[in-house]
Amino acid sequence: RELPGDPRTDRFPREVLHACYTKVSPSVQVDKPQLVAWSESVAELLDLDPKEFERPDFPLLFSGGSPLVGALPYAQCYGGHQFGMWAGQLGDGRAITLGEVINSKSQRWELQLKGAGKTPYSRFADGLAVLRSSIREFLCSEAMHSLGIPTTRALCLVTTGKFVTRDMFYDGNPKEEPGAIVCRVAQSFLRFGSYQIHVSRGKEDLGIVRDLADYAIRHHFPHIENMDKSESLSFSTGDDDHSVVDLTSNKYAAWAVEVAERTASLVASWQGVGFTHGVLNTDNMSILGLTIDYGPFGFLDAFDPSFTPNTTDLPGRRYCFANQPDIGLWNIAQFATTLSAAELINDKESNYAMERYGTKFMDEYQAIMTRKLGLPKYNKQLISKLLNNMAVDKVDYTNFFRLLSNIKADLSIPGEELLVPLKAVLLDIGKERKEAWTGWVKSYIAELVASGISDEERKATMDAVNPKYILRNYLCQSAIDAAEQGDFEEVRRLLKVMERPYDEQPGMEKYARLPPAWAYRPGVCMLSCSS
Ligand code: AMP
Ligand code: MG
Ligand code: MG
Repeated sequence: RELPGDPRTDRFPREVLHACYTKVSPSVQVDKPQLVAWSESVAELLDLDPKEFERPDFPLLFSGGSPLVGALPYAQCYGGHQFGMWAGQLGDGRAITLGEVINSKSQRWELQLKGAGKTPYSRFADGLAVLRSSIREFLCSEAMHSLGIPTTRALCLVTTGKFVTRDMFYDGNPKEEPGAIVCRVAQSFLRFGSYQIHVSRGKEDLGIVRDLADYAIRHHFPHIENMDKSESLSFSTGDDDHSVVDLTSNKYAAWAVEVAERTASLVASWQGVGFTHGVLNTDNMSILGLTIDYGPFGFLDAFDPSFTPNTTDLPGRRYCFANQPDIGLWNIAQFATTLSAAELINDKESNYAMERYGTKFMDEYQAIMTRKLGLPKYNKQLISKLLNNMAVDKVDYTNFFRLLSNIKADLSIPGEELLVPLKAVLLDIGKERKEAWTGWVKSYIAELVASGISDEERKATMDAVNPKYILRNYLCQSAIDAAEQGDFEEVRRLLKVMERPYDEQPGMEKYARLPPAWAYRPGVCMLSCSS
């Protein structure tokens, strides 16, 4: 069955009932749009020849300034919980899907322009995006992919040549900023909120939830669609009665479990690299387990469990770094509740999906932290002591793990020399704290010696999981400052560096430096949603 669409095609802001999407074309005004940067690996996914990016009309096409032949533009209808509260219909207020490309490997890729003008879902806002936040989304999408973390991708970034007015949140004064557009690419942009919205409309629309679930399973979870029903896949639940859930008897239950597990792995991988999403509302949760919607995100510099890059999330810190695993579960609970309300899964299956989120998260998180330390097996005490020490001394999360691979598995090294490989990250540390660190390194070395893994082998495996280069906020800001002056070289350079985060890149060491003092000026580390 076809998914229901909105019969109207105008952009008038409204509640769009009984529909999954509205046909709407880009309406953004452009004036000599320019190509800022593009991703070679995304072009490859789409079988796009690099020469295409040199076409004089390329910026016009990918700014939405001129229609793409063969496109079927539409905006998705979705809702969501924002900061824990049901917020009703939210989107998509500024992303317009151009259509889907099926590549030579028969993979389906959806292309969206973010910031291409209003849709019926734009509410009070303008449907546009500024260069500053578009650079952040473009670079971080590709940086996350190169880190090995599931994410929506970014094909290219173009300026519109027009200005956009934004209320700057730190001084309250409106500011004119250059407009820009990112072409986002993913196998699907469906979110938890894409399902929630139809349940919220009442009984009448529950069929839409089923149709949209069928659609997602058919296109994106074919192994569930083709599940062998004769081979039962039963699991006993953690409930008191230890009852059994058979995932082969209900494809929606199997789907809910897989979404829960993908979400758990995703969050575990964020914790591993110190990524904080910033706005984990249910409309920003992909059913494919992708990182989606790069707004006020941030990578940890100094380790701080309460790190909250989104200034609109202060002082509550709902979406701070350390809360992400719990928020993932909260969001999965909303998703499971939605499928229950649509009578696709029962309470047991719903509870089971949440249970599997928890187990999967712990398994993955422990495995990631164990690999970061180069150990053969999980050591809870060693890891929690380390994170505690890092928090006390505000140690840089990325650089610490990168340097840790230089520790030698040698118990004869005298106390004061143990910290030499970590010198660059253990700054301004008093005598007492030095002792704490020496103690930790000693117990770490004891584990390394017991593991029997050679120093060389361990260094190679650790360096393959502990990035040297991450997209720190201040690096983005330098690229933004230059781009706002018309110089796009720094964006391009940063993209290249972030495409190889685990490699030593001679000459590029400055991109692995700790944030300079200017990084703490207002505006650099102050970020909010929807710019
Ligand atoms: P976010 O908190 O970034 O997920 O934003 C929530 C929703 O607000 C998005 O799904 C968009 O549909 C919408 N939105 C954000 N910024 C704009 C904008 N400038 N114009 C129209 N809609 C927007
Ligand atoms: Mg969003
Ligand atoms: Mg957003």
